[in-house]
Amino acid sequence: MTFKYGGYAGSLLFADLTKGTVKKIPLEKEWCTLYLGGRGRDARLLFEKQDPSVGPLDPEAHVCISPGPLTGLLGPTTGRVNVAGRSPLTTIYGNSNAGTNWGPELKFAGYDGVVVTGRSQKPVYLHIHDSDVQLLDAGRLWGEGVFETTARILEEHGPETKVAAVGPAAEHGVLFGSVIFDFWDAAARTGLGTVLASKNLKAVSVRGTGAISVADPDGYYEAAREGWQAILDDAGFRTGEHSALGTSICVNWGNAQGWLPTRNFKESHFEGADKISGEEFRDLYSTKEAPIPAGRACFSCPNRCKRFGRIDEGKYAGTKGNIEFEGVSAFGSKCGVDDLAAVFHAYMLANDYGMDCISCGNTIAFYMELAEKKLLDTEGLELRFGNADAMVEMVHRIANREGRLGELGSQGSERAAKAIGKGSEAFLNTIKGMETIACDPRASKAFGFGYAVSSRGSDHLRAHPVFEMLKLSEGVGEELFGSKEAVDLRKYGGKVRLLVWHENIAAVTDSLGSCRFMHASYYAEYPVPELVNKYAKRKKDPAKVRSIKYHRWFEAATGIPMTYEKLLEAGDRVINLERALNIQWGLKKEQDTLPPRFLKEPIPRGPAKGELFDPEKFQDMLKEYYAIRGWDWESGLPLEEHLRQLDMADVAACLGKRGLLATSRTPRSEDGAGVGSEKSSPPASSLDDCEERAGRNGGTPARRP
Ligand code: SF4
Repeated sequence: MTFKYGGYAGSLLFADLTKGTVKKIPLEKEWCTLYLGGRGRDARLLFEKQDPSVGPLDPEAHVCISPGPLTGLLGPTTGRVNVAGRSPLTTIYGNSNAGTNWGPELKFAGYDGVVVTGRSQKPVYLHIHDSDVQLLDAGRLWGEGVFETTARILEEHGPETKVAAVGPAAEHGVLFGSVIFDFWDAAARTGLGTVLASKNLKAVSVRGTGAISVADPDGYYEAAREGWQAILDDAGFRTGEHSALGTSICVNWGNAQGWLPTRNFKESHFEGADKISGEEFRDLYSTKEAPIPAGRACFSCPNRCKRFGRIDEGKYAGTKGNIEFEGVSAFGSKCGVDDLAAVFHAYMLANDYGMDCISCGNTIAFYMELAEKKLLDTEGLELRFGNADAMVEMVHRIANREGRLGELGSQGSERAAKAIGKGSEAFLNTIKGMETIACDPRASKAFGFGYAVSSRGSDHLRAHPVFEMLKLSEGVGEELFGSKEAVDLRKYGGKVRLLVWHENIAAVTDSLGSCRFMHASYYAEYPVPELVNKYAKRKKDPAKVRSIKYHRWFEAATGIPMTYEKLLEAGDRVINLERALNIQWGLKKEQDTLPPRFLKEPIPRGPAKGELFDPEKFQDMLKEYYAIRGWDWESGLPLEEHLRQLDMADVAACLGKRGLLATSRTPRSEDGAGVGSEKSSPPASSLDDCEERAGRNGGTPARRP
């Protein structure tokens, strides 16, 4: 172990594509203790290295691709990797997370992350084989779909190679381009694939043959073993349903609970849910074939939730790949389409083109509602809810920026609404510029509130507070979050504390390189199993209750002293740092909100009939949230005192110089230069500027994979 701490490789690869250089740079030791790795360190690096005036698609923009200190170790679900940069879609913090084996492979090659900046004169891909690192010509790959690109790189470098690739949509400047890892897992939200493509970078492939040391092997083994056992003991895990159906288990579940977004969120209950469910996919298309060996799970995962399928006959014969709930809802219930073959096909097209299925599907659903309201020139397409052919056609048009609908749709629904006008904004479901995921916020209050405050725009995975959907005993909710209502998805009590806990843990696991399903599906994370047992009718011997204790894993792996409380504080630190990035990129307090539909229109039918998100309660929750996070209520700016408590005095000083810090003495900025005022906007590029830049790198002609 040459680096001071175990778990880390000790260095980053820094690729400057303008200069054509790749350097190995040492890891900042202090960042390991404060920001852990992955998501936390990436945010710190962006804060330090990227001038706020640099636009998302400027050559000087940075993209970080980083596993965490636990990635590649033998604890359960240690295969995760973080991708971060400034989003071209939202122009604020861009971040997404994926699994597979790519992150562990990078660690085995000897690196804790890859940082890319600059712009190559011609298409290249970065190939890493241990210490042999090269920028190779990608001319023959440019314009190819993600699947073909990945297959060709494997042919070139061998089947053990792991590949992260972007597709033609990103090359064309679609603002929600994804990065697809190892054929089947996407870091898609916020469009960082488009940033990589703007640099003329087609892929990062990696082969690593080394090993990772830990500081205390016996301690780590014990902590990891307890973590494995906690998952194996979990009642939800033991049903095997998540493994059998994948995340599409949520289709019928969400429909029964009344939160499955339907027809562009007009409703939250879909009469065709059964036909697009995980059960239906298993029965019709499931296959044992995975594109790479052991490809049905991310590295070291007992859950194996990836569900592969193949269509052998009919109109969409040949379609194959891995599906997730979000894509099924985006192209299914949100578009009112109950033809599973069409939904599967549209989803795999989006993956092969390399674009975020959620933003793409939501934009098409938005178009369908506009067409229904006669607010849209549909350019000859019969864009009505339920029309699968029109939906599939729109995927092609958006990816290739074909026609006005394709061109506008490629910039996301918020920009499209701005161009279309005629009051179309009323039918948007975007927050901070990003399309909302597949859970109706009116029917599930912690999820809904989380969308409004998420650091990357409307999103569930900053927190993933499934807790409120599990019908746990009220005692658990009261003890953990201060209210019995915390276990009721329709109620508001305890939901802010519930959300903050989930956000903090999620920031930690994203930084450590572990999967959130372990703490936000199975709730194997300390102290939930202990509390569930305490309030259970039939109790186990408390000495036999096991839980995942990330603080122990981290301490044993790295040698850095850690407690449960300190780890939660690290989560708060990461979220405050993301807030700092966002305000310097122009975020305004008014953007911490929900779209009008969710605050005004009750759900018209189904199990959640009559539900909306009460606007007054929303404001109360926001106040409570700001107080916990240490943000000034008047301006939305971080308070200096809170940043100092989090050991972020350097961040506070930097924000202070930029006029973007609230002090406890003067919480309201005297000259009005807060987040909510025009004066607070830094010299960042605007949405319009982004649109213009997006077209500059679309060198290849439109092509349908
Ligand atoms: S639970 Fe699913 S997403 Fe999470 S690590 Fe396992 S296979 Fe990957």
